[in-house]
Amino acid sequence: MPRFAHRLLPCLVTLFLAAGLGTAALAQGTPQNWLTHLFQPPSTGPVPPANDARSWSGQSGASGNPLMTADAIRAAAADFGNCIERLWPEAARRGITRENFERFTAGLTPDLSIMDKLDAQPEFTKAPWDYLDLLVSDDRIAHGRALLAQYAATFAAMQRTYGVDPAIVAAIWGVESNYGALAGDRPVLRSTATLACVGRRRDYFREEFWSTLEILQHGDVPAEHLVGSWAGAFGPTQFMPTSFKRYAVDFDGDGRRDVVDSVPDVIASTANNLKMDGWISGASWGYEVVLPQNFDYLLADRSKQMTVRQWEALGVRRATGSSFPHHDERAYLLLPAGARGPAFLMLQNFRVIMKYNPAEAYALAIGHLADRMRGGGPLVQSWPRDERVLTVDERYELQQRLAQRGFNVGVPDGLLGPQTRLAIRSFQSSIGQIPDGFASSEVLDRLRQQ
Ligand code: CA
Repeated sequence: MPRFAHRLLPCLVTLFLAAGLGTAALAQGTPQNWLTHLFQPPSTGPVPPANDARSWSGQSGASGNPLMTADAIRAAAADFGNCIERLWPEAARRGITRENFERFTAGLTPDLSIMDKLDAQPEFTKAPWDYLDLLVSDDRIAHGRALLAQYAATFAAMQRTYGVDPAIVAAIWGVESNYGALAGDRPVLRSTATLACVGRRRDYFREEFWSTLEILQHGDVPAEHLVGSWAGAFGPTQFMPTSFKRYAVDFDGDGRRDVVDSVPDVIASTANNLKMDGWISGASWGYEVVLPQNFDYLLADRSKQMTVRQWEALGVRRATGSSFPHHDERAYLLLPAGARGPAFLMLQNFRVIMKYNPAEAYALAIGHLADRMRGGGPLVQSWPRDERVLTVDERYELQQRLAQRGFNVGVPDGLLGPQTRLAIRSFQSSIGQIPDGFASSEVLDRLRQQ
């Protein structure tokens, strides 16, 4: 399973880490779709034109990787034709005919504008509440409900076959591409060929390139419709080519697995992906909860899994006031914005959604959007909207200051992972604050004192 989410997705990573969430999530799962909605954030605006100034900046990347210097990018681009030819023998082993290989790659040139995206180092990140506001909007809820009604028969057939909640599939559809409006318009073969030959993710993208050739040769998706994000994720639910190979199904029975133009294939393939990743039929993704006074915030950690019954014994209650439907489910406690924000008990299906797109705020947006489509209300607890999310530089500074005070953060990387969170908790305890591990601006201010 490919594991390049970390470096490729600084924006999303910092988003969740800024929220005090785990990095472990980023090292697992299928990082297939986060690209589109991060670097082409879902919006209600029009789809940008296909020729929107897509040229390479000519700058070296910010990662410091030797393959991302401007000279290295130019040299790799100059060798692009030879590189493609070096990919032929493996393509042949996968049953691609020489005739098709030449046809598919004829006139292919690298899309170097992708290099800027690949190495983007955004200065700022979104707070979890801004992220949820954007993705769980009234428009997106209404659109999802309309699709659930319009394709009710298909969703019902999918649920009988795969046991996956229709609203969750609709929510993925809505978040990944704003229901197809932002599925991307870059030819997948060109994007994957570029990334297979230029830049620092060649190994990963060679596999995606070969898989794209297989899709084209088999004719599942017509070449002119095989377009997507800069990283090659395509269709309304943004399948990467390798994920397509693993999970796509032909649900309308026309002999093609068309996750771009066939709604039944899109719905069933997305559900099959979740099912194969461990979806538990009939279970929820999680519950918003309220915590009792004097709660031990050290329990709010991905590593601290307990049954709902055990959480209840600690005084944890559903925020809506209703009772938990099941008591033997195992859950962990998530505080996306620390002790001042909402709390959630997260179940197995939450982890499954994170395999689709490995970030906790993403999975929370999917789960909450699905609940809203079913008629659920907004979150009960409010977010600390006065809280300012730390910049990348401030995150480095936070780590360095923690290290200077003897708290172990590992190697400062600007990513606030489990070790840094633990260090923040220890620091918070040492100054008499609630040890929620949240990297607030107040924690940084306190570290700057003395
Ligand atoms: Ca089909």
